[in-house]
Amino acid sequence: MGNTYVYDFDADAPGGRELLGGKGIGLAEMTRMGVSVPAGFTITTDACRAYMAARELPAGLAEEVDEHVRKLEATTGKRFGSSDDPLLVSVRSGAAVSMPGMMDTILNLGLNDDATAGLAARTGNPRFAYDSYRRLIQMFGEVVDGIDPHSFESALGTLKSERGVKQDTDLTAEDLQQLVATFKEIYRDETGRDFAGNARDQLLHAVRAVFESWDTPRAQVYRRANDIPDDLGTAVNVVQMVFGNKGDSSGTGVCFTRDPSTGEDILYGEFLVNAQGEDVVAGIRTPEPITLMRERLPEAFEQLTATLDRLESHYRDMQDVEFTVEEGKLYLLQTRTGKRTAGAALRIAVEMAGQGVISREEAVARIDAAQLDQLLHPMLDPTAEVEAAAQGLNASPGAASGEIVLDADTAEARGKAGDDVILVRWETTPDDIHGLIQARGVLTAHGGMTSHAAVVARGMGKPCVAGCEGLSIDTRAGTVTIGEHELKAGDVITIDGGTGRVIVGPVRLVPPAIDENFGTILGWADDLRRLRVRANADTPEDAAKAREFGAEGIGLCRTEHMFMAQDRLPVVQEMILARDESGRRAALDRLLPMQQSDFEGIFEAMAGFPVTIRLLDPPLHEFLPSAEEATSDAMRRRIAELHESNPMLGTRGCRLGLQWPEIYEMQVRAIVRAAAAVQARTGEAPLVEIMHPLVGFREELARLRELTERVAAEEPSVEYLCGTMIELPRACIRADEIAEVADFCSFGTNDLTQTALGFSRDDAEGKFLTYYLEHGILERNPFEVLDQDGVGDLMRIAIERGRGVKPDLKLGICGEHGGEPRSVAFCHALGLDYVSCSPYRVPLARLAAAQAALADEGVTALAVGG
Ligand code: PEP
Ligand code: MG
Repeated sequence: MGNTYVYDFDADAPGGRELLGGKGIGLAEMTRMGVSVPAGFTITTDACRAYMAARELPAGLAEEVDEHVRKLEATTGKRFGSSDDPLLVSVRSGAAVSMPGMMDTILNLGLNDDATAGLAARTGNPRFAYDSYRRLIQMFGEVVDGIDPHSFESALGTLKSERGVKQDTDLTAEDLQQLVATFKEIYRDETGRDFAGNARDQLLHAVRAVFESWDTPRAQVYRRANDIPDDLGTAVNVVQMVFGNKGDSSGTGVCFTRDPSTGEDILYGEFLVNAQGEDVVAGIRTPEPITLMRERLPEAFEQLTATLDRLESHYRDMQDVEFTVEEGKLYLLQTRTGKRTAGAALRIAVEMAGQGVISREEAVARIDAAQLDQLLHPMLDPTAEVEAAAQGLNASPGAASGEIVLDADTAEARGKAGDDVILVRWETTPDDIHGLIQARGVLTAHGGMTSHAAVVARGMGKPCVAGCEGLSIDTRAGTVTIGEHELKAGDVITIDGGTGRVIVGPVRLVPPAIDENFGTILGWADDLRRLRVRANADTPEDAAKAREFGAEGIGLCRTEHMFMAQDRLPVVQEMILARDESGRRAALDRLLPMQQSDFEGIFEAMAGFPVTIRLLDPPLHEFLPSAEEATSDAMRRRIAELHESNPMLGTRGCRLGLQWPEIYEMQVRAIVRAAAAVQARTGEAPLVEIMHPLVGFREELARLRELTERVAAEEPSVEYLCGTMIELPRACIRADEIAEVADFCSFGTNDLTQTALGFSRDDAEGKFLTYYLEHGILERNPFEVLDQDGVGDLMRIAIERGRGVKPDLKLGICGEHGGEPRSVAFCHALGLDYVSCSPYRVPLARLAAAQAALADEGVTALAVGG
């Protein structure tokens, strides 16, 4: 027996979301719940994958589709392709993971000249019949034959101006009949063929086109940006058409069970009378707020709110639905977990836990750690005087200033070059995705809160102002009018996605305040996680900020950063350039009190929490003046002597400390004195950890431990631990020996990535690594997301060997990966004691650590799809 590729909505399929896609599984579940859903069937993602492999419909699929069409005919009492009372269907894509607007949909399949006449006669509504037909020709032309949508839109625009009307709904049946003729001509001109009148052919072409749309460049870009595997494929849903364009008792809309921007528990959405779904989604007509539906279609509104309540309690999460009302009767066309801003996600999770709908564990598991970042995004400085030049919809929060860019390609190029740009468009389409990714924000003239630009920007955590009426664009001239202002591409504007304001010129931005829900969720996360979270901080100010974000100590204080300060650099240079020990000591004596006071400030800010201070580890060249800056021949010679071709692999870290022990001696002394001073002042002993960098051999650390103990013994007695970074492959392999002389180890995965992969930290990212990523040789930047297979395996070896000789060896990570959610999960699995990351990422790490612990218990976020 061959494969089964097609399942009716009410059938038991042998798979869930992966097989049926998000839309398919939603339709099947709603059908089972008895929610009013049009009849139909789903063609599985298996079929899509088979199609992708062979670029043709898999054997048997067409016949299976025929069979299910026959069932649909029996259910609906209509015939597909009939000219009397034709069954019409839509073909809708739906992958397992939601990719809003990325793939194609075709409505009204089954219409041809005769069927349209039949439909007109049968419904007594020729306007509706011809409107449906012209939509089919347009969508089919665009999706199946790749005809430029503007050809159709401009024909529609011309007809409207000839008739002197504004809205599509003002066109008469005769107008639309004429439009059908025009559209058919466009179709013939563009394809050299007549529009296909055979219903079965239409359907199979449409199925194929949806499969093809999985592989369009825009879908590929979207998948890469959202980490969606390429081999998932999309399912195809064939659904009996219900009509929102049958007159004033019909309509269509999209809505959320809670406000996706704020999370407030209110009905939120948009709706259009006498329209089909794509009018709302594409932002072609500006829809009305959903609340007006109560007056316009009161009965359907009642049915809608009751259904939404059921759906939300069934899925136990905020739902995003599409619906159509056909002559007063409500049909749900889709339900899925609604995308939301980070702020809304927190509020919904906290409130649902409060309402007893979900547990605290689920509430924590549902927050997207990467999305939390949104809350840490800038806003307009509230004290700045701003005058809005125009006002649009507050479609996605956050604020951004940047130069106006009018097309996605330029936005991509300029954004990649590091420029701040705002993409300004009449409306965005999925083809603009690459520009959206690189722009700071997006501003559109058309479209509502559920338009493409709004949905995509919200998902990316970028500011978006949509539907800005005061905006008009002349793409060819490169000019833009915003309210009263005439601007051009390259001029700076500011958008405030939180309020919808558009401002000419730059505005000061400030980091946003974190609200109560943020604290609540992170508090719950703290109760659930096993990993401790520390911060990398080098100054008392950063340490204080880290505490505010909930850091439980400092995992890395880079002492060289203290040396970079303007008043200190000359002293440091003097120390490095000194010809002998006494010259070095003279400079170090001056540095000691400066370091000591920094350490005191940090210990105080971190009272009660451990502070790991790493001794000096700069590649020397970072401190050296250039040869041109030398003021004497002697200095020039010394600079030349110290020059290295490969400073990253040169006189760095403990190599420096071993050669010139007086440097580390000064630092140990400053640390111990600072600890003693703070203890005397506050009565509380700081938890001091002294860390030696770039150790590869046991002997290096043994000697530095001896140095540390010797110097500490000369100073007031304080408790401290002495440990090392593990950031060289050799240190991983020989971690057993190193552990014998270490109280703790912290993985320096920046250097470990550099040395394990042989990728220069300084150069790879701007050069070959970009090529590697663009060409799929590597999937991710290993400096951003830990290379678990390579670097991660070295870590695993180090942990096994280190804890093999010292079972209670304290282990952490302080490379950049310590704040990257996937890498944090990996560190949890490895059994590290803590992660340490930059203060702004501490909240993400706290959440990611809790989620990793929850995943061990089988608690994960509900799949977000549709
Ligand atoms: C590391 O190498 O991962 C590390 C934390 O040290 P640095 O980045 O200062 O070299
Ligand atoms: Mg390092």
